[in-house]
Amino acid sequence: MNYQIILEDTLKNLNGKKKLLLHACCAPCSSYVIEYLSKYFDITILYYNPNIDTNEEFNKRLSELKRFIKEFKTENKVDVISLGYNDKEYLDEIKGLEEEKEGGSRCFKCYRLRLEKSCIYAKENNFDYFTTTLTISPHKNSKVLNEIGHELEEKYNMPYLYSDFKKKEGYKRSIVLSHIYNLYRQDYCGCKFSKKIKYEE
Ligand code: SF4
Repeated sequence: MNYQIILEDTLKNLNGKKKLLLHACCAPCSSYVIEYLSKYFDITILYYNPNIDTNEEFNKRLSELKRFIKEFKTENKVDVISLGYNDKEYLDEIKGLEEEKEGGSRCFKCYRLRLEKSCIYAKENNFDYFTTTLTISPHKNSKVLNEIGHELEEKYNMPYLYSDFKKKEGYKRSIVLSHIYNLYRQDYCGCKFSKKIKYEE
């Protein structure tokens, strides 16, 4: 399945400007996705990331995201909403999977938690689509992310925007934009388990 082609088809067939709820994890991953999708949508970014290990790190990533949105000129409206920091939601969700390797079942639960909250928010607030920036990362499983998006789309009757943002040099472009805007680029995914592995390396 080439999710980039599915995305291009959807964008080609949009009937007028639509409202997109975009789940985002940080400014660097959002940069290219905002550049790409803000040509087509009014975007509201949902910063919902209870997986992040500390409140300080959570706020640091959020403030960089807000700064990027302020400085980056877009054709259509882009704003950001944070649901606040509550790491208990994440820790409860992944209970029993703490020792799993990065990229395994703990991560799939983490994807689902964030995507489901985004889907429900989009549904309750009358968005046309929801999606996430997470597929831009070479470390994230785009197939699993899109499969979760599909399941949620059916469960809540809320259209999911399929994606594989790393395609078409999306990941490389996000690095270029991060340099241009001098964005903070964290060196671990987010949870305390990913941080521990990174620091052990
Ligand atoms: S490594 Fe990243 S995706 Fe996996 S559980 Fe931790 S924060 Fe979530």
